[in-house]
Amino acid sequence: MDDIAPGLLEEIRDSFTHKVSTSPKIAKLYKAIQDGTATYIEAEEYAYEVGAVLAEAFSEHLSAAVLPDGKMYFNIADRVLRPLLEEDHAIIADAAVQVQTALNQKAGIHLKAQTAPVNNDRIEGIINKVSAADSFDDVAWVLDEPVKNYSQAVVDDTLKVNVRFQGKSGLRPRIIRQAERKCCEWCSRLEGEYDYPRVPPDVYRRHERCRCTVDYNPGSGKIQNIHTKEWQSEEEYAKLMARKQLGLTSLAKSLADHPKRLASFTPASLKAKLEAEGLEVKPLKNGSLKNIPFADGGGYKVNFEDGGLLQYHPAARSHHGGAYYKISTGKGGTHRYDLEGNEIDG
Ligand SMILES: [Zn+2]
Repeated sequence: MDDIAPGLLEEIRDSFTHKVSTSPKIAKLYKAIQDGTATYIEAEEYAYEVGAVLAEAFSEHLSAAVLPDGKMYFNIADRVLRPLLEEDHAIIADAAVQVQTALNQKAGIHLKAQTAPVNNDRIEGIINKVSAADSFDDVAWVLDEPVKNYSQAVVDDTLKVNVRFQGKSGLRPRIIRQAERKCCEWCSRLEGEYDYPRVPPDVYRRHERCRCTVDYNPGSGKIQNIHTKEWQSEEEYAKLMARKQLGLTSLAKSLADHPKRLASFTPASLKAKLEAEGLEVKPLKNGSLKNIPFADGGGYKVNFEDGGLLQYHPAARSHHGGAYYKISTGKGGTHRYDLEGNEIDG
């Protein structure tokens, strides 16, 4: 039997390359990307259009009629679809990195734009689905919408790696997700502006046919000292979000609302209770007790929902007349309490 894979790959690649280079929409978006005027919104459109012409090239050259037994065998899928999906990734990732580079330059951020790696899991997902069916015609749809979605995800992933990289470098990038009118309830709920690291884990994700936009803003562009700022980690934030969605209020939050309840704990029993709730209790990050574990006479701190922070400072080296708790919330500001829950002067 003739090996049809090399010929098919060449035909589809020619057609894909031709479509990319002759599409007026792609040309217009590419020019904006080259000029440095494009944002992530244009990068997402570009990804969608590139994905759409790859899907078109697949549908023009692939059908049960041209495949042996009318089936897309795994070894054909792997040698025809994989390289094209990788090329699609390379074209889009390159454009997305150019957008990020221009945005960095404009904001005066001297950080290298990061490239999203090829998502092999998604490529394998597509290959496996297409090769699982007895007749290719039953699964041809997998090379349509899912290919466009895979392409859009290259930009979403680029945004994600850059936001994380900048956040960990001490910037506070902002992500702005806007739902397309009448997209869906899931997307409406994700709509909003988020400052790293307080970012819902799903903000970079999109379901099929989702044309919502996810944009990026470098924030103030100023590097903050992440060693002195009390920032919670992205992982911690995700954990707190998950609790909130379940309607759970953390003990720390209820103490912020009802500080008198502090009296029913000792610093040690409170620490144990917070840990039992799954919160991450860490040594203090500032002052003379910096990084000294509670067990060695240090204090502790714990982040809680809505940007809250609860700290315990022992009597040793206290500037507030003995041991105290300090609780900060976005809305309520910062308050200090003695171990009985009475407010003391800052
Ligand atoms: Zn959507």
